[in-house]
Amino acid sequence: MNATPKSEPKKAIVIGAGLGGLALAIRLQSAGMQTVLLERRDKPGGRAYVYEDQGFKFDGGPTVITDPDCLKALWALSGRDIADYVDLLPVDPFYQLCWEDGDKFDYTGVEERLHKQIEERSPSDLKGYKKFLAYSRELYRVGYHPLCTKPFLNFWSMVKIMPTLARLQANRSVYGKVASYIKDEKLRQAFSFHSLLVGGNPFDTSAIYALIHALEKDGGVWFARGGTGALVRGMQKLFEDLGGEARMSENVEQIVMDGDRATGVVSNGVRYDADMVASNADIVHTYEKMLSGHNRGAEHTKSLKKRSYSMGLFVIYFGLDMPPPEGLEHHTICFGPRYKELVNEIFNTDGLADDFSLYLHCPTVTDDSLAPEGKSAYYVLSPVPHLGTADINWDEVGPRYRDKILDYLDERYIPGLKDNLVSHRYMSPYEFRDDLNAHLGSAFSVEPVLTQSAYFRPHNRDDKISNLYMVGAGTHPGAGIPGVVGSAKATASIVLEDFNLSAESVSV
Ligand SMILES: Cc1cc2nc3c(=O)[nH]c(=O)nc-3n(C[C@H](O)[C@H](O)[C@H](O)COP(=O)(O)OP(=O)(O)OC[C@H]3O[C@@H](n4cnc5c(N)ncnc54)[C@H](O)[C@@H]3O)c2cc1C
Repeated sequence: MNATPKSEPKKAIVIGAGLGGLALAIRLQSAGMQTVLLERRDKPGGRAYVYEDQGFKFDGGPTVITDPDCLKALWALSGRDIADYVDLLPVDPFYQLCWEDGDKFDYTGVEERLHKQIEERSPSDLKGYKKFLAYSRELYRVGYHPLCTKPFLNFWSMVKIMPTLARLQANRSVYGKVASYIKDEKLRQAFSFHSLLVGGNPFDTSAIYALIHALEKDGGVWFARGGTGALVRGMQKLFEDLGGEARMSENVEQIVMDGDRATGVVSNGVRYDADMVASNADIVHTYEKMLSGHNRGAEHTKSLKKRSYSMGLFVIYFGLDMPPPEGLEHHTICFGPRYKELVNEIFNTDGLADDFSLYLHCPTVTDDSLAPEGKSAYYVLSPVPHLGTADINWDEVGPRYRDKILDYLDERYIPGLKDNLVSHRYMSPYEFRDDLNAHLGSAFSVEPVLTQSAYFRPHNRDDKISNLYMVGAGTHPGAGIPGVVGSAKATASIVLEDFNLSAESVSV
């Protein structure tokens, strides 16, 4: 009997090894596509790149891991266990919130402790908080899995979810909704700042993002032993164990087109052929540069540039010749003197505010492998306007801004910082633009507002080029680890349908 000849596996190219690109590459390879991942930098990770200096290891970006199940699913696709590759450690309190008057609030997953702190601060707000938690859980239930991992390619898919969005008051802002439940201003800040961690202004971003509270409360906050870099390495290893090919220092210059079909890419002058191409690179960069030879490139770049983009970040990575100060938590939010006014200036004003609010990361508190013995590693970030909002000369302003922030931390959070500073570097919107090809140096790509969400966000598959796909922060659902890993699931579901591959391999 003649066996049916086995067809050749389809060839996929994924441009960019950010967390979204890695997750998509794993999904495509798991589904049987022969996948090549091309990354322009010398190491994978994108925003999650790791900088090393004198034995210190600094995670470039994401440090707060939520929804570990979305990561576990990538291993489960091939019957593997994430625990054989990455060790995820719980972190509690999730964050310590600090204000300039010395007031502190442990944003913890331990319910009694959370309730006690709310009650001590504002007794009447405990009832409101419980209602807010119920609202957040409902958002999570109907808005997270059902909406975040499904592609929205046509207007009808949006129409279908309109009643749900209306019922959940998605047209209101995160802060507005929190304020409808909670009266105390500091508690309002405590339960609304999270959207900033995915690039959203809490005063403009859809209340849907209030689901982050339930995501953290019920799923926990995690840290990868060895840093987020260990998660990135684990994902790369999984991809390679599955037979995928990851190539670093590959700068993709062009997506090669035959009419309206992508047939491959050119990277470092070399052509790679493929049946489909997916880009994890910045969405504007993808259309403007890689599709510059095709009319779809110019046409779509024009419309992408009309969109609003998330703010920039100024991030200082530093290592100290001393252990972390007594009492410092792994994640600290250092609120400055202003909240709403500062956030609005960051998103809307041409200039750099005199004050700032900071997120301080000290992984040494959880894992001492990231700094040499007896020393400690940190990063601190300050949200700042992107280059389209404020044309700041960061070459000039950067060193002064760095010193101002380090002085502030020395004075209030890490006494002895300046005397023990042995390693430091910073990343301004210029580095986001130049090292990551980020449009306007934005840290989180397209701004997450309702009018740029789901169907209204750049689609996971191009509308005209039917075998060109997008993955990562600039497409649906958006930034953050769960966002970009969710976008990989949404994108993979379309690819597998387009290529008649088993849908089972995306269902995990
Ligand atoms: C400082 C900071 C802190 C953050 N903290 C958190 C957090 O705690 N928790 C959380 O969930 N999220 C956090 N985020 C958000 C999260 O990190 C990002 O949304 C997410 O990592 C973006 O992933 P991505 O898949 O979009 O790809 P990116 O990380 O943007 O990677 C894209 C990749 O494409 C590559 N590329 C670009 N152009 C080309 C080209 N021409 N050829 C080949 N490759 C190319 C780039 O080099 C890059 O590696 C943070 C972000 C930042 C910046």
